[in-house]
Amino acid sequence: MTMSDSTVDRRSVLRRVGGGFALLVLAPVAAAVEGCGKKELSCSSTTGLTPADIQTRTALQYVDRAADPAKPCRSCRLFRTAGEAACGGCEVVKGPIHPGGSCSAWAART
Ligand code: SF4
Repeated sequence: MTMSDSTVDRRSVLRRVGGGFALLVLAPVAAAVEGCGKKELSCSSTTGLTPADIQTRTALQYVDRAADPAKPCRSCRLFRTAGEAACGGCEVVKGPIHPGGSCSAWAART
């Protein structure tokens, strides 16, 4: 065995031990996060809306996640909040509205 073989072997062993250690530490953390049952809020359902309401929602390009982080529904003057963990409402876009969503009718609060 040469000096470089020995170095490779040590590196290989350290890599395996390090990978195993990371798995031991991170697996329970990942399981705890998954296990808390917290789902990401979705406000994309159009159940109960009229075809005209759905058309307005589509025409104004409503999305649950604002493309421009400076213009979320929560800072739009047309938004009616129900809290950060719930879908709110809007004066022009009918149906559930995500606080972090947005549409092309966004208007700054005055
Ligand atoms: S007008 Fe658009 S940006 Fe403003 S609250 Fe309604 S859906 Fe959100």
